[in-house]
Amino acid sequence: MARLTFRGGVHPYDGKDLSKDKPMKTIIPKGDMVYPLSQHIGAPAVPMVKKGDRVLVGQKIADAGGFVSAPIYATVSGTVKAIGPRRVVTGDMVNSIIVDNDGLFEEVEYTSHNPEKLEKKEIIELIKEAGVVGMGGAGFPTHVKLSPKEPEKITYVIANCAECEPYLTSDYRRMIEEPQKLVDGLKIILRLFDNAQGVLAIEDNKPDCIELLSGLVANEERITVKALKTKYPQGAERQLIYAVTGREINSSMLPADAGCVVDNVDTIVAVYHAVAEGKPLMNRIVTVTGDAVNEPRNFYVKIGMNYNDLIEEAGGFKTEPQKVISGGPMMGFALFDLNVPTTKTASALLCLTKDEVSETEEGPCINCGRCVEVCPGRVVPSRLADMARRHDEEAFVANDGMECCECGCCSYICPAKRQLTQSIKSMRKTVLNNRKNKK
Ligand code: SF4
Ligand code: SF4
Repeated sequence: MARLTFRGGVHPYDGKDLSKDKPMKTIIPKGDMVYPLSQHIGAPAVPMVKKGDRVLVGQKIADAGGFVSAPIYATVSGTVKAIGPRRVVTGDMVNSIIVDNDGLFEEVEYTSHNPEKLEKKEIIELIKEAGVVGMGGAGFPTHVKLSPKEPEKITYVIANCAECEPYLTSDYRRMIEEPQKLVDGLKIILRLFDNAQGVLAIEDNKPDCIELLSGLVANEERITVKALKTKYPQGAERQLIYAVTGREINSSMLPADAGCVVDNVDTIVAVYHAVAEGKPLMNRIVTVTGDAVNEPRNFYVKIGMNYNDLIEEAGGFKTEPQKVISGGPMMGFALFDLNVPTTKTASALLCLTKDEVSETEEGPCINCGRCVEVCPGRVVPSRLADMARRHDEEAFVANDGMECCECGCCSYICPAKRQLTQSIKSMRKTVLNNRKNKK
């Protein structure tokens, strides 16, 4: 089988052995559940309940606030305690619905469907109604992604099974424990695109997943498994599309412009639940890991649960963590408060010890060129970071600063420990905000 890859990239310590071989464990939530109304890209959801209302598991408690938005569902039964601002992983205060969990888990009834008998628009409507969003971190509403202007021009639906971010093993566990749901979810998405073939794109450090899924799709005419070379950021959208199809996209293009739709493992399984079982998005898998926790593993988590409860289920802290990151070490962000809820996009909680965190002071650039060598965005990170620090937006854009995918490779490789990604990322945010304000 061909091994596919892209230009640039790095090979950081992957830390996956900490959690990859332990089966997923379901956590039963105990305390209050917090549902932020913004846990997706687009308009915030609009509450459909008020203080004092009783809610059931699977009941819609907030409706989509527009086409680019997603509804939110209760994941426990109980009483709405309040609707008001609560802190989320980014540190921002976000309007949220708080439910007093009664521990009974009384549930609504769901209507299952035979996906083969559904029209395309019915499939899209079920995905939209279930509140499915990109669960790899972006949170883009999936029904919008699956509704490109010219669906007949989509020739690839790529299941992003790379899981290239160090320490994360939730996709791995999902592929090992529930591979059929992934295949069935992909088949549902393929029903929307008559001219597309499905590709399960997996890094070659997961040979067991490659073997298992290859066996499952052996008789599926429209689905193949492709083994990708193990290299970070193999799972970044642009790099993945290039590795699988040889097609290139830039920051002003969408995957659909290259005839591709890309969805991650959890999202595709959520599509399966939404369409085949009629169940809304209520759960996700979260990797709780790092040397600072006693029992790193993957948890099957109800959205709305407090991060502190996840740490408790992982046996608590072995030692005081030097740094706690929401997500992986390359693209995640540092957390300053664990008293925040799990959302649709929360993939991991990484608790690093002092030994795992590099505390070296930033030094001056020695012009070694290593950041340029590893940059998959084909830009000059050292120069862009200088422009960002000078707030020179014009030069930043002219030097293709918007082509950066914020992968973190440049900061990782820099011997002077320059915080290149951080500077570039904040400049990109400024440019995007300024563009939005000009509209
Ligand atoms: S400049 Fe951006 S794309 Fe290039 S290595 Fe740095 S973070 Fe990655
Ligand atoms: S890797 Fe660091 S030291 Fe080397 S050129 Fe880039 S910014 Fe300068």
